[in-house]
Amino acid sequence: MNPQKVLSVLIIGLLSLLPIGVVAQEPAPSDPPRDEKLWKKALEIQRKSIVVDTHNDVLSFMTDENYDIGVSSVGKYHTDIARMREGGLTAEFFSVYIDRSYAKDGGSARRALDMIDYVYRAVEKYPNDFMMSYSTADIRRAKKQKKIAALMGIEGGHAIEDSLMALRDFYRLGVRYMTLTHNNTNNWADSCCDTAKHNGLSDFGKDVVREMNRLGMLVDVSHVSDKTMSDVLDVSTAPVIASHSSARALGDRPRNIPDDLLRRFTANGGVVMVNFYPGFIDAKVIAASRARDERLKPQTDALKQQYKDDPRKLEEETNKLHAANPLPKAPLSVLMDHFDHIAKVAGVDHVGIGSDFDGVPSLPVGIEDISKLPVITYELLKRGYSERDIRKILGENFLRAFAQAERVSQTMSKTISADGSVKRIRQ
Ligand SMILES: [Zn+2]
Repeated sequence: MNPQKVLSVLIIGLLSLLPIGVVAQEPAPSDPPRDEKLWKKALEIQRKSIVVDTHNDVLSFMTDENYDIGVSSVGKYHTDIARMREGGLTAEFFSVYIDRSYAKDGGSARRALDMIDYVYRAVEKYPNDFMMSYSTADIRRAKKQKKIAALMGIEGGHAIEDSLMALRDFYRLGVRYMTLTHNNTNNWADSCCDTAKHNGLSDFGKDVVREMNRLGMLVDVSHVSDKTMSDVLDVSTAPVIASHSSARALGDRPRNIPDDLLRRFTANGGVVMVNFYPGFIDAKVIAASRARDERLKPQTDALKQQYKDDPRKLEEETNKLHAANPLPKAPLSVLMDHFDHIAKVAGVDHVGIGSDFDGVPSLPVGIEDISKLPVITYELLKRGYSERDIRKILGENFLRAFAQAERVSQTMSKTISADGSVKRIRQ
């Protein structure tokens, strides 16, 4: 470690000792000067509000690299406890991300169980910082106790290995949402980014959604195909979430949500949580990414051939190739445009935060890690949003949808057939 780095680590260490809201975050040199009065107001709102992030992938590093979230990882990961506190975060959904390779090779449910254990052990290790949380009431309690509510969402419905029994067990272990697919079509739901096999949701896929409604587990439509999303919105009696998706009108990627489906969140009462990744949200970065894919095709084809039996090594090598060929940076304004767009099309009651921190290789300028979350509040103030609307976006919209899902669950039958299937009768 060179002396300059030692100094910066010292400064970061000292800053992390300060209470939330007083840390002065310096604007990037290219930004217009910060309005200090407005920034102070943003920090005040952040401190008072329930701030929920519905998608963070740091759990993959905790599981694979035994990363201790209580140790500073500035410059390496986007998330550690000190920076979660600095960002004014109330509730984090740790993503129990199950790679598609498990669907092929087996072991999806086991992988999910292992990852869930890592969340519990992190919460046990840091009881003054984290509170294991399962409900809206728990999130509000964590806020009062000045702790971070730790929640879990499974990413990739293949985790349940086509078993409603496993789905129920994951609920019992505390999982409170499930992303029906990742970028792979599974045995019952089509993904955004794979061959469609079911014309959306299969009959069993519809049973999965109904059972999630009955349990009070939120249905997450990030990564699913448009038809799957439409089917979910037809079938679900509870509000639906997109835990980390943005607007396709501004970022033309199949995993983003088109306006006609955004509008359906209004009637459903659900919430679309904006994903921060430049490669999903910025039209210029998306175009540069497509050009890069074209340019690097010979190399990527060679890697695919070389590591055809080792998907993890393939991903690692592809990431290295991409790191050596970086994409242009995205300004913060592009991210804020997605909040604006979804608030305009679906309504301000239907937008929230789904960062994708530690699941993406880069972030817009000014929001490089979880400590920078107050810049969202600041930028919303700058764009003229009221404090009430900002608090909705920061977390109250999500809490409203989650509370409604809890109520729907309470009204549904508790009866399960002897064969483990669900009787579709509402009480
Ligand atoms: Zn994802």
